[in-house]
Amino acid sequence: MSDTEDNAAAQEWPSTRVLTDIVYCGVCTLPVEYCEFAGTTTKCQKWLRNKDVALFAKTWPAVDLTEKMDDATLEEDSTLTKEQKKAEAKAAQEAKKKAAQRLIIKRVERTKRKCVIEVSGLELFGVDLKKAAKLFATKFACGSSVTKNPQGTDDIIVQGDVQDDIYDLVLDTWPQVPEEQIELTEGKKK
Ligand SMILES: [Zn+2]
Repeated sequence: MSDTEDNAAAQEWPSTRVLTDIVYCGVCTLPVEYCEFAGTTTKCQKWLRNKDVALFAKTWPAVDLTEKMDDATLEEDSTLTKEQKKAEAKAAQEAKKKAAQRLIIKRVERTKRKCVIEVSGLELFGVDLKKAAKLFATKFACGSSVTKNPQGTDDIIVQGDVQDDIYDLVLDTWPQVPEEQIELTEGKKK
């Protein structure tokens, strides 16, 4: 082998390599080995890492691949967390909404000796108000009817001082009504 032949081989080698192995960067469009001159190095590295980890390691031997991969994992995690946060927020909202469902059993004095009980919110627990009113009338042998309240929703008005009895009956009859969501209140004649 002469010196001339050696030189010719050395000159040919890079062009052959470029023709067969060339990978153009999806960010800067340069061949990936020129990314460091593109001014978008971080983006270029990210792109190449996602496309071909082995080529990335070869092109950027100084970059800590593990650390970079961790970054990518972290990014995925934060996306997941976002989804989870969304789901959590939704669940919290629903729990809040559920907790806000209140059955109010209000004792209202009509006169010194006569009072009625206003039952509000029973429908929020899927109870048929007419059936409930009938049940109260039967159980307590008193008048009981469904009446529209000023808020435009329906209350059951029970004629009689039976607040505690209604409380107990509700718990016995409709287990879907949580005890902590039943409010016993007192009100004056309207
Ligand atoms: Zn690039």
